[in-house]
Amino acid sequence: MTIDFTLTLKKHHIDVSSSSGKRYIINSTSCSCLGFKFHGTCKHFQAASNHDLISKITTKVVNSKVTDLRLEAIRKFLGSNNITISDQKLYEIEVVVTRDTLPSKILELAV
Ligand SMILES: [Zn+2]
Repeated sequence: MTIDFTLTLKKHHIDVSSSSGKRYIINSTSCSCLGFKFHGTCKHFQAASNHDLISKITTKVVNSKVTDLRLEAIRKFLGSNNITISDQKLYEIEVVVTRDTLPSKILELAV
């Protein structure tokens, strides 16, 4: 396979610039080229995957989503224990809470 395009990693996508002057955008799940539309994958997307670039564009977005879910879960958990918490405190707790943190420890952190 000849490489006739270049990939440029941006914050939330990858720019594809082909030698024929065409430009495409790759995001975490797809490429904007026709090949991807027809086949569900393409040489651009595969090359980006092979160079481990896909994970790099998605990391930030995915993490912030996960963090939002975690914040919401912690807030709900505390709410079910009749604890209302400020956003600031919630962020502080989120940083130290892991999957293995005991519920009682979370309650302790919140007060
Ligand atoms: Zn493509």
